[in-house]
Amino acid sequence: MTATENELSAMIRENLSDFHPDSARYLLEHIVSIGRKPMNQSTSAIWAFGSRVFLNSHIFPVGIDLKDPRLLSTIAHEIRHLQQGPIVAFSVYGELDAWQLGFQLYYSKVNQAMPTVLSDLLALPLVLDRSVLKTARKLMLTYAGRKYRIDLYPLFPITKEIGYLLGFVKTKF
Ligand SMILES: [Zn+2]
Repeated sequence: MTATENELSAMIRENLSDFHPDSARYLLEHIVSIGRKPMNQSTSAIWAFGSRVFLNSHIFPVGIDLKDPRLLSTIAHEIRHLQQGPIVAFSVYGELDAWQLGFQLYYSKVNQAMPTVLSDLLALPLVLDRSVLKTARKLMLTYAGRKYRIDLYPLFPITKEIGYLLGFVKTKF
């Protein structure tokens, strides 16, 4: 039997309550619906308007263990984007925040060494600083490959990016 989006969401929420209580609470309070869609291999999941998250059905097919740390950390990553809102989520800054959360959770639950590229990424401060965010983007591309189109994202959330381009914002804010 295939779980509906609501059933899948309820099951994942229950598993998240131990894994990352903050994400589980957000799922409950915002009635986030979790579904599956086929996507290319460089994408684990996506967030969508209307409090929705879709898992890549090639990576997380029907029947997968819903306690799998990779699945739960991926959900936590996407929920962080929903918490951020679309303007922050669509920026290197927003991705850095979500990557740091997801990988920190994942590697705290599995008995594996974190690759250097990720430990370098997690060591970066989450700040609106262009040189830090350029380094973050480079590390993300090294890890995920060129199909991960973080190069299309503004470094700052777009409203602040425009302020920067117009010269209102010099370095940090
Ligand atoms: Zn993301």
